[in-house]
Amino acid sequence: MKLLDNKVALVTGASRGIGREIAKKFAEQGASIAFTYLSSVEKGQGLEAELAAYGVKAKGYRSDASDYAAAEQLVNDVVSDFGTLDVLVNNAGITRDTLLMRMSEEQWDEVLRVNLKSVFNLTKAATKPMMRAKQGSIINMTSVVGIMGNAGQANYSASKAGIIGFTKSVAKELGSRNIRSNAIAPGFIETEMTGELNEKALEEWLKNIPLKRAGQGEDVANACVYLGSDLSKYITGQVLQVDGGMLM
Ligand code: NAP
Repeated sequence: MKLLDNKVALVTGASRGIGREIAKKFAEQGASIAFTYLSSVEKGQGLEAELAAYGVKAKGYRSDASDYAAAEQLVNDVVSDFGTLDVLVNNAGITRDTLLMRMSEEQWDEVLRVNLKSVFNLTKAATKPMMRAKQGSIINMTSVVGIMGNAGQANYSASKAGIIGFTKSVAKELGSRNIRSNAIAPGFIETEMTGELNEKALEEWLKNIPLKRAGQGEDVANACVYLGSDLSKYITGQVLQVDGGMLM
């Protein structure tokens, strides 16, 4: 018996980084996986075969999480292809880092739309099949900078703080329907998103991490397995930090 046997999961932004690791861990734990990608088409298509090798049903969809109508269509497609939806992981996200003085309206709007509005879009659509099934687990990817703020990331940290408020509100609204809503706040995880940082910035981050290493996508994926599985069936409205102890 695996932790996610008989569950259908949808993971947004799984072509690369943390999302890809979540999709693989979920497949390893027996879930059927629907996942999305947007610009990394080849990588997204390649993941389908990689997941199928775990012996589970897997299908990729090219879909923009920040587009309301596309998100609704996506969830309809997933339900018609897989029959239901048990776990939603809102992972897709971007950065457009710069100091507030230089931040353009476009950089603000784009980050809020892709990081925060996407979570509203997908969650709203996913709650329909989850209410029908009288169960569900929603996992939203926030960040430690959504809790503590970060110079050069006013747009990103605002979007991630917004996700935390949204997660807790949904937990309160849908708890009586047996739909859980939790957030994961990764600290410093090695992906393309953090690959842009220079050596000096990296050293500064590591100084403040008690476990003295950067996190891996797998570390975040393991936390998602827990929140997606019935092991966490009495846990909702929480923000689980996966940060090596960086922020406490
Ligand atoms: P990443 O390597 O840059 O990957 C981002 C993923 O999001 C890609 O698969 C990308 O797909 C997808 N994506 C971007 N815009 C999208 C859209 N509009 N619709 C659908 N998919 C979209 O980033 P990551 O480091 O894995 O981060 C994943 C999540 O964790 C993000 O929410 C991020 O904010 C959060 N996080 C990361 C860290 C970290 O240290 N890395 C820390 C805290 C939180 P395409 O390439 O196909 O467009």
